[in-house]
Amino acid sequence: EINNFSEIISHCKEYGYIFQSSELYDGLSAVYDYGQMGAQLKKNLRDTWWKSMTQMHDNIVGIDAAIFMHPTVWKASGHVDNFSDPMIDNKDSNKRYRVDHLIEGFADEQIAAGNETLAKEVLAQMDTLLAADDYSGLKELIEANNIRCAISKTSNWTAIRQFNLMFKTEFGAVASDNPDDNIVYLRPETAQGIFVNFLNVQKTGRMKIPFGIAQTGKAFRNEIVARQFIFRMREFEQMEMQFFVRPGTQKQWYDYWKTTRKAWHESIGIPAEKLRFHDHVKLAHYADMALDIEFEFPFGWKELEGIHSRTDFDLTQHATYSKKKIQYFDNDLNEEGKPYGNYTPFVVETSVGLDRLFLTVLSLAYQNEKWTKEDGTEDGRVVLKIPAKIAPTKLAILPLLKKDGLPEIAKSLLDDCKESFHCFYEEKDAIGKRYRRMDAIGTPFCVTIDHQTKEDNTVTIRYRDDMRQERIALSDVKVLVEKLIK
Ligand code: ATP
Repeated sequence: EINNFSEIISHCKEYGYIFQSSELYDGLSAVYDYGQMGAQLKKNLRDTWWKSMTQMHDNIVGIDAAIFMHPTVWKASGHVDNFSDPMIDNKDSNKRYRVDHLIEGFADEQIAAGNETLAKEVLAQMDTLLAADDYSGLKELIEANNIRCAISKTSNWTAIRQFNLMFKTEFGAVASDNPDDNIVYLRPETAQGIFVNFLNVQKTGRMKIPFGIAQTGKAFRNEIVARQFIFRMREFEQMEMQFFVRPGTQKQWYDYWKTTRKAWHESIGIPAEKLRFHDHVKLAHYADMALDIEFEFPFGWKELEGIHSRTDFDLTQHATYSKKKIQYFDNDLNEEGKPYGNYTPFVVETSVGLDRLFLTVLSLAYQNEKWTKEDGTEDGRVVLKIPAKIAPTKLAILPLLKKDGLPEIAKSLLDDCKESFHCFYEEKDAIGKRYRRMDAIGTPFCVTIDHQTKEDNTVTIRYRDDMRQERIALSDVKVLVEKLIK
């Protein structure tokens, strides 16, 4: 499985999905660029999410808030004081680890070695100690199990410390006696852009509770990184939706979004058995209920999306810090026939990482197929079985030869289709080789124009997943593909 993961990483690079950032200069750790195929796949995923949130829910609207925000936002939200992970340094190798990752890595090794009981015990102890912020207890746990650092093979650790994950930078060029005056943070989550705009959107959009505000955008965290490709990045993209509800109804909405979000993942082709819920043991400072939707990545079950019941924490904090009233007047009638009146709404949030979703889709799609042909020889292909509706390129248009008027027919089909969906035109190489290349980049349909096309206006359509080929009318291609990518 892990081997398969390294194959996926090289495949992403080879076919223009993902490149290491600044690769020319040997790269920047945990930062990645999306190439010509990857950018389109990422956009398709983002668009699918956006449509499911905003267009398909008449009580959810979308915004696009700035990455820079007033520094007090992050004091109010608790990020300046609390947004940190416990970390520990190995004294011999000078390597820094996140405490939970170090212990989880140890547990994985134990499971691989058949010591599942020990692994479970250690993980349970870790959860309890983390929940109690018991750092000396955690250090004892590490030492008692002789948990070593992969590089130095020694167990010589510093004390555990908190490490704030926010990136800081200087804003403007105003001279000030207090250097802190110019500090701004790169947002570590998109959610706060929604909270500070709650009243703007509610009033200008005449929104009635319950309603939601959705947003996609970059977030930044100075993660202590275990090498997991785009699973954990320092610059990544979130797709978040904050749903504002009447206090006391949060459980009902939490359950609603839990079910709805899992169903959405299934709707884009993630099999139900590869998804599971994981309730949080330690709740964040703002939450009264929280769970992760986990996916079985090539390196194990890990968080793909978080569903959090954030109470009225954020809006109340922003009201306190800004000294402004952030409330909603609810004129629906309660059981006594009176309006619910003024209150601070509660929030249920859904927060999914676009890059993690991308990795999910790719790790399901990637298949290295091998088979024996009729003549007894071995054959095979690497194929990305990305569901047609999210695949970056939908149709490859391939003239069999670069002559006899075939490219002209192919190009007129291209002109006819490209307004409706993304096409790929290619006339180089033998047709079999071109099919394999389309398999590798995940193009679900190929159409080949040959000499017969000139006689009877039919073409060969080839389906990526089962390599089936059939002859259809040239004039049917566009309508058929439109139907298949719905
Ligand atoms: P983790 O426990 O894996 O660090 P988290 O609980 O801190 O994640 P949240 O703060 O709930 O994550 O963020 C919501 C979503 O944003 C996550 O479910 C994940 O998909 C995504 N995300 C968070 N951090 C990163 C990161 N460093 N790289 C890529 N995606 C991320």
